Amino acid sequence: MPKYALLIDYEYCTGCHSCEVSCKKEHGLAVGKWGIRVFEDGPWQKDDSDDQGRSFNYNHIPVPTDLCDLCASRLERRREPVCVHNCLANCMRFGTVEELAAELARKPKQVLWAPTDVDVEL
Ligand code: SF4
Ligand code: SF4
Repeated sequence: MPKYALLIDYEYCTGCHSCEVSCKKEHGLAVGKWGIRVFEDGPWQKDDSDDQGRSFNYNHIPVPTDLCDLCASRLERRREPVCVHNCLANCMRFGTVEELAAELARKPKQVLWAPTDVDVEL
């Protein structure tokens, strides 16, 4: 059972890619390798009603990869993950699975990333 996680409120993600770039730099990842990727879905119309654009799907969705270790070495130094630190929209959070799951239940358009193979003791 994972203890710690990232919660990403992608409703407010601007697609700035700061999380991608800062993660790549922090971990010295080679060309083509990433700890997190920001995907874009849309814009496409959900239905044909004229509701002044609200019927469009357009999301930026950050997704951690298999290389994400929750910034374990930063956590050991009592520092938050570098993607959380550099998120310009302040829409990423690090915390325990329990507290973030409670946040997840409060609103839609969020993703909870809880890797099972990361063992962090805080
Ligand atoms: S927690 Fe660290 S390793 Fe994981 S995506 Fe964020 S910056 Fe990259
Ligand atoms: S840094 Fe934050 S706002 Fe920018 S792409 Fe990543 S999650 Fe979205």
